[in-house]
Amino acid sequence: MDCILLFSISAVLLNPSQAFPATMLPTGQDIQSEKHNDMDISSRILEANKEISDLLLEGDMAFPKTRNAMKCLNDYCKWPKSKSKMVEVPYTIANDYYNDEKALIENAMKSIGAKTCVRFVPRTNQLDYLSIENLLGCWSTVGRSGGKQQVSLSVDGCVSHGLIEHELIHSLGFHHEHTRSDRDQYVRINWENIPRASAYNFEKKDTNNLNAPYDYNSIMHYGRTAFAIQYGKETITPIPNPSVQIGQRLEISNIDIQKINKLYECAL
Ligand SMILES: [Zn+2]
Repeated sequence: MDCILLFSISAVLLNPSQAFPATMLPTGQDIQSEKHNDMDISSRILEANKEISDLLLEGDMAFPKTRNAMKCLNDYCKWPKSKSKMVEVPYTIANDYYNDEKALIENAMKSIGAKTCVRFVPRTNQLDYLSIENLLGCWSTVGRSGGKQQVSLSVDGCVSHGLIEHELIHSLGFHHEHTRSDRDQYVRINWENIPRASAYNFEKKDTNNLNAPYDYNSIMHYGRTAFAIQYGKETITPIPNPSVQIGQRLEISNIDIQKINKLYECAL
């Protein structure tokens, strides 16, 4: 996780497809699905991304550091509403997924759609769209970036319901919960347990919190040992009650749903 890779981060962030050509796609990483069942969402994403995590923001976001999708000029980073008042997010899915993997991806899209006004729709000729690809690791840009926008869901560790939802929610414009602007009232960041090279993963963002309460149960919240300097050390501790669970990986939370509906002004 904390290996130092010596190529340009900006090149990766601005154009992941150049950084990870087809010849670099994972070929049999040693990741056991049983192991993942015992890991929280952040551990699972970081495990899947262990070879590239230093090149991605907070482990799984690919975008320039200067951007904040939840506070964007002219709402460009939001997906537009169609005439039907639904927020349409066109997508393509690469054809190297098995049918059951493709079904899992589409099922996660439908589960977000069932609770919000977001509709992931197969792309016809739309200019802006998500291109779901089996690349190296699990990652997404935050919000709409314009044009073809890759979302990486590696078959080696990323194609499960919660992880797919997590990456799709990034693509809708959401950062990690533990980086929201008021997080210091709700979690303590244990900087002494974080390698200096990974500290940026815990920087606060100037986020629009949509008047929603801090959500320990968010599928966008990292677990307590993410990026730890040593196995088992806590990097994030909930306060005042340190035993509150964080980092769940099962399902989009009720507050995650509320925030999507607020950001996109869904009339449900
Ligand atoms: Zn993430």
